[in-house]
Amino acid sequence: MLKTMSSYFVRTLREDPADAEVESHKLLVRAGYIRRAAPGIYTWLPLGLQVLRKLERIIHEEMDRIGAQVVQFPALLPKEPYEKSNRWQEYGPNLFRLHDRKGGDYLLAPTHEEMFTLLVKDFYSSYRDLPLTLYQIQTKYRDEARPRAGLLRGREFIMKDAYSFDIDDDGLDIAYQQERYAYQRFFTRIGLDYVICSATSGAMGGSQSEEFLFPCAIGEDTFVRSQGGFAANVEAVTTVVPEPVDASDTAEAEVRFTPEAPTIEALVNVSNERYPREDRPWQASDMLKMVVVVATQPTGEEEVLALAVPGDREFDERRLEAALAPAEIRMATQEDLQQYPSIVAGYIGPQVLGPNSPDRKVDPETGEISGSPRFLADPRVVDGTAWVAGANKADHHVYHLVKGRDFEVDGVIEAANVRDGDPAPDGSGPLITARGIEVGHIFQLGRKYAEALGLEVLDQNGRSQVVTMGSYGIGVSRVLAALVEEYHDDKGIMWPPHLAPFDVHVLLAGKGAELNDAAEKIVHELDSRGIDVLYDDRPKMSAGVKFKDQELLGMPFALVIGRGVKDGVVELRERHSGQVIDVELDKAADIVEEKIRQACAHWNEAADRAGFTKTAAEIAAEVQATKEVNNG
Ligand code: ATP
Ligand code: MG
Repeated sequence: MLKTMSSYFVRTLREDPADAEVESHKLLVRAGYIRRAAPGIYTWLPLGLQVLRKLERIIHEEMDRIGAQVVQFPALLPKEPYEKSNRWQEYGPNLFRLHDRKGGDYLLAPTHEEMFTLLVKDFYSSYRDLPLTLYQIQTKYRDEARPRAGLLRGREFIMKDAYSFDIDDDGLDIAYQQERYAYQRFFTRIGLDYVICSATSGAMGGSQSEEFLFPCAIGEDTFVRSQGGFAANVEAVTTVVPEPVDASDTAEAEVRFTPEAPTIEALVNVSNERYPREDRPWQASDMLKMVVVVATQPTGEEEVLALAVPGDREFDERRLEAALAPAEIRMATQEDLQQYPSIVAGYIGPQVLGPNSPDRKVDPETGEISGSPRFLADPRVVDGTAWVAGANKADHHVYHLVKGRDFEVDGVIEAANVRDGDPAPDGSGPLITARGIEVGHIFQLGRKYAEALGLEVLDQNGRSQVVTMGSYGIGVSRVLAALVEEYHDDKGIMWPPHLAPFDVHVLLAGKGAELNDAAEKIVHELDSRGIDVLYDDRPKMSAGVKFKDQELLGMPFALVIGRGVKDGVVELRERHSGQVIDVELDKAADIVEEKIRQACAHWNEAADRAGFTKTAAEIAAEVQATKEVNNG
């Protein structure tokens, strides 16, 4: 392919777009890759499309490698399947909804679990048809509350979404690992740094879910990692539970007067002033921080819950929500607390909570509890630990309140914030927090959608079985922007060679027939060898402007046809290294061709070099083997 800058549909801008905050957004707009059509909605220009197509091709190759098959759904879909899965409601204002002329409800799909489930249901009826993985690369629509950062969070964006279908959990595990491996190969091949983060703690016995995050300061996701290789979303971090403490020497619990101590900090001060300890000062971690919330299940059922964390920690909203999902959480009001006369707001303590509460009643038939709310505490509240807590009496706290001696809990909850330095759950060292951009997500859906939409097949014994599913997404347009975040400098984009819209940018830097002829000859020579050439032939542009554009646009190589031509040399520039060398005009095509071939091969082979060489069958065999070991 040979395109000339004088006719190619591209206009570079000197100024950053007014609404752009992040580099990828600024550069992609300034270099003429994309153009804003509406907030969070972008037009792909020829340059942008070239990169997109190359990314898509690598995705197709990697999907093909694990035996996934491509289909293409419409983006415009009827409401009914989404009603059956309850997502018509669940998605709320994030869904773009519309009507047809007959008044029927439609939506622009935010993701396609329902449609894939129904498609497979249409065709398949036997276990013999499975396993199956289907995927598409397609436009998605979400009316995001805060579309920002250009392609990073769009309201229209491109996603690769794959869905696996299996008769049993073993099959799902295999499909999941194959997809995970394809992602590792994909992100390694395109050269995007990634961290695989556990997205679920497994605490609820849930199925596996992992996110691929591109570590990046402007990322909206926070995750934690350890030196030893642990990485997880904050929601998925489980606390390392300390050993129980021997409390035989701990003093008796004692109610004390603690005026003007509405905060943990004030309580620490009051405690040190009035009731100093002999061994050390009181500190926030001695205090029990309490909160009462109301959890509303999707069914509408409400439950009041009392929660406790050590006083030196905060309640982390996201961890709390994840711990109690799918319930929605809000703070309890005075009204909610009226049913519990022993509870004194601001001075809540565990003595009147939990299974030992004198107020607690348990219905012998249903097991339902009343009189005192369910009480869940941080895992660090282990037997023998002593706390200062509210005394359920205004201006009073209890000291030396020992878990297991003076109070009990109904259960534990992972709702305290995770801090730098906390131990990783797998013992791989202290955790540090970092920020990232979610570029991919793999998720064992299980039978949720198959159940909702009735996808069943007959098993070996002729019995009907609900199919189990996985869903696997890559934010393709987001990945493109993430690549620009990773590969740019203050002058512009620096594409990985195999993803650049053109292999080489040829600049005509000077006037005269001799230069013109030399440039024409070399661009046609390169084109004839199958090299993609962008030729800056613009007669009225200064060499300075052409150089600026070349750096902004970011092709891996540039050939400068300038004064040297009279001596038979041209200049070869490498965008990544900044290296500039003179090459003989006669040999320039050979040299450029070889460099491009080597560079593209180097990047394309990155996954193999990194050791990701297993086939889909080998991955399946490995998953089977681990299962056999685990099952004895
Ligand atoms: P986020 O938390 O960033 O909103 P998500 O959890 O909603 O992402 P999924 O529903 O798992 O994302 O979608 C699969 C992939 O699609 C994500 O991993 C991400 O790369 C991409 N993606 C999701 N929302 C957007 C968006 N608004 N713009 C661009 N890409 C997106
Ligand atoms: Mg989202």
